Amino acid sequence: MKNWNIQEAEDYYGFKRWGGGHFSVDDDGFVQVHPAGDARTIRIHDIVREAIGKGIQPPLTIRIQDLLRTRVIELNECFIESIKNEEYSGRYRGVFPIKVNQLREVVEEIRDAGEDYDFGLECGSKPELMIALSMHKNSQALIVCNGYKDDEFIELALFGRRLGKEIYLVVEQLSEVRQIIEIEKKTNTEPLIGVRIKLSTAGEGKWASSSGEDAKFGLTSPEIVEAARLLRGAGLEQSLRLVHFHIGSQVPNILTIKKATIEATRFYCELQKMGFPMGLIDIGGGLGVDYDGSKSNFESSMNYTMAEYVRDVVANIKYVCEQAEVPTPDIVSESGRAIVAPHSILVTEVFDRISKLSVGPQKKTARKGKRHPILKELDGILENMHEGSRLERYHDALQKRDDACNLFNLGYLDLATRAEADALFWKICDQVKREAADASYTSEELEILPSLLADQYVCNFSVFQSLIDHWACNQLFPLAPLQRLDECPDVDATLVDITCDSEGKVAKFVDVEDERTSIRLHQLKENEPYYIGVFMVGAYQDIMGDLHNLFGRVNEVHVFLEDDEEDGYYIEDQIKGFTVRDVLRLTQHEASELTRNFKRQIDRATREDRVRPREGVNMLETYTAILNNHTYLKV
Ligand SMILES: *Cc1c(COP(=O)(O)O)cnc(C)c1O
Repeated sequence: MKNWNIQEAEDYYGFKRWGGGHFSVDDDGFVQVHPAGDARTIRIHDIVREAIGKGIQPPLTIRIQDLLRTRVIELNECFIESIKNEEYSGRYRGVFPIKVNQLREVVEEIRDAGEDYDFGLECGSKPELMIALSMHKNSQALIVCNGYKDDEFIELALFGRRLGKEIYLVVEQLSEVRQIIEIEKKTNTEPLIGVRIKLSTAGEGKWASSSGEDAKFGLTSPEIVEAARLLRGAGLEQSLRLVHFHIGSQVPNILTIKKATIEATRFYCELQKMGFPMGLIDIGGGLGVDYDGSKSNFESSMNYTMAEYVRDVVANIKYVCEQAEVPTPDIVSESGRAIVAPHSILVTEVFDRISKLSVGPQKKTARKGKRHPILKELDGILENMHEGSRLERYHDALQKRDDACNLFNLGYLDLATRAEADALFWKICDQVKREAADASYTSEELEILPSLLADQYVCNFSVFQSLIDHWACNQLFPLAPLQRLDECPDVDATLVDITCDSEGKVAKFVDVEDERTSIRLHQLKENEPYYIGVFMVGAYQDIMGDLHNLFGRVNEVHVFLEDDEEDGYYIEDQIKGFTVRDVLRLTQHEASELTRNFKRQIDRATREDRVRPREGVNMLETYTAILNNHTYLKV
C-alpha cells in the first residue's frame, strides 16, 4: 500500500476488470467514464457537482445515455462479424426486452441506436406491449411478445399486424394456441406465431428456474406436437415461424448456452421438416454481465465474453441446421441486462461513520491496585507482556471479553468497567489485525478481523430502493469512491443505508476471487463530501426497487457526450425523485387530510395554552413544506 497510485486504485476497485473498458481513474484521482469506447471521457464527480448546482441532490442515478448506444452497437456488430466469419446465411434481428428497463428515455435511446440494425423490442405484459406498439417505428424491426397472454393482449398484438408490423406472439402455454385461433377467426388478421420450448437443458445461475422441466414457461415436446396439430387444423400453418427459448438471466456458464442453443435448434429443424415455414430462432436473454470482473462461472460473473457468446450461438445453430439439412434461420436475441446494466451509476454520499474504535479505552485513572483484574489482563494482552503469538493474543482477548460480559450480566461488573473491557478488546483486535497485515502468513481465524473491525459508512440511500438484487439475491455490484483515488484508502468499511432495517447494508463486495467482506475507503474529511458510486445498476434495479420506509425513487440525471461543451458533456433531462407527498399518496395517505389532522392537534394545543400561536403556525408551515421535499436525508 506504500506505493499507492492510480493504477493501484484501478486494480483494487477493479475498474478494468468489470468495466468493459468504460471506466477508469484519471490523473487527479477521479473516476471517469468512457461512454463511446473512444478517448472521450466524463468525470463522474463533475456530473454530481453540476447536478447539485441545479438543486438535484444525491442519492442520484446518473444515466450515461451514450453508453446505452455503445452497447447496442457492440452487440449488433458482434453478431454481424460472427455471421460473416461463419459464412452464416441469415441475419441477426435482435430485440430489447423492455422489462429490463422500461424508462422511456432508455427505450428511446436503444431504439434509436439500433435503427440501422433494425433492432426491435420485446414485451412480456400488456403495458409493455402498449409501449412497444407505440414506440416501434422501423417496419424492419421485430416486436416479440412473450409472457402469459389474455384475449386483450392477443388482440392488441394483432392491431400491430394490421399496421404492418412484424409482431410475433410467442406461445407460452397450449391454451394460448386456442385463444389465438379464436381471435384470428374473429378479426381475420393473420398472426405470426412462435413457440417457447421448455428445454430439458436446465439453466445455471440465480435465475436457472426459467428453464428445465419444472419451468413455468414454455411447451413440452408433446405440447409442441399438439400445438402444431391445432394450428394446422385451423389452417394457420403459415403462421408458425419462430422457435424461442430463454434459460434465465445472467447465465454464468457458456456451456449452458451452447447446450440450450443446440436443443432449441433441433426443435427448430424438426418443425421446419414438418412443413411449417419457420425462419427465426430466438435465443432469449441470458447474456451476462461480469459484475465482479472475475471471468468465472460465479453467480455475479460469467466465464465468457459477448463475442464468445455470439460465436457459439451462430456456430451451433449453423452446425445443427447443416446436419439436418435445414436452411439456417435469422437469429433473434433478447439481451437486456447486457445492454443496459453498464449505463447507470448510483451515487450516494457518506455522511457518517460508525466505528468500534472511535471511543478508545479511558485513561487509566483508577489506581493500579484497584483496577479490575479483567482489565489488568486485557492491559497485559495489549502490551503483549507474555510475548504471545497474534493468534494467542486474539484468543486470550476473546476469552477475557467473554468473562467481562458474563460478569456484567450477573451484576458483578459496572458499566464503566464493561465499557473499558470492550474498548480494550477492540484495540487488541485492531493491533493484531495491523500486525497480521504486514505478515507474510495469517492464520485463517484472523482473516475475519478486517470485517469484524470494519467501520460502517452510513450512506444516504436505501438498498431496498436502489440495489434490491443485492438484498434479495445476494447479487454483487462493483462500487468505488468517485474521488481521492490518488490517495491510499486506509479504512476497512462496509456500507449501511438509512432505512430502519438491519438488512439495509452492503457488506459483500466484488473481488477477483471469491468476495470481500469489507472494502477499503478513505477517512472522511470535514466539509468535503465523500461520494460512492455503485456501478452497473442499469438492469432491473430501477423498477424492482421498493418503498421500504417510504424512501422511494431517487433523483436522476441523463448525461450526453457533447464535444462543444467545456467538459465534453451536458445534462439533458432531470427526473426528480419522490417527494414525501408522492410516497404518502402511494400508501393512501392524502397530504391534505394529514395536514388537516395535524392542524387540529395544533389548534387544540394552542387553545389549551400548551403551544403559543406563533409556534403553532410555524409547526404547520414546516409540516406542509416538508411534504414537498424529497424523502432522503438533506446532508
Ligand atoms: C427477462 C427476459 C429477458 C431478458 O434477459 P436478460 O438475460 O436479463 O437480458 C429476455 N427474454 C425473456 C423471455 C425474459 O423473460
